[in-house]
Amino acid sequence: MPEMCPRCGLPKEICVCEILDREATKRIKVYKAKAKFSKFVTIIEGLAGEELDKTTKELKSRLACGGTHKNGLIELQGDHIGAAKKELVSLGFPEGSIDAAS
Ligand SMILES: [Zn+2]
Repeated sequence: MPEMCPRCGLPKEICVCEILDREATKRIKVYKAKAKFSKFVTIIEGLAGEELDKTTKELKSRLACGGTHKNGLIELQGDHIGAAKKELVSLGFPEGSIDAAS
């Protein structure tokens, strides 16, 4: 009897739970949030560590907007969902891993 995965119930050899977990951590979300004075900020979720810092700086200069990162989220001033996604792709993030809400 092969060892079974407790999550999907499949034998461990063919289970993909771990692979899915790994891919899930790499997913990037781009969405808009309401900020003060009826303005918007663009939130980018899913980056960590040095990548977070580097990407924030890069996006701020490419999109010519203000921005910061806190608690693992990049926050850019203004509505830049489409542009931010394009820049993330050009920075090397796979397009398929970026969920951009419109
Ligand atoms: Zn599994």
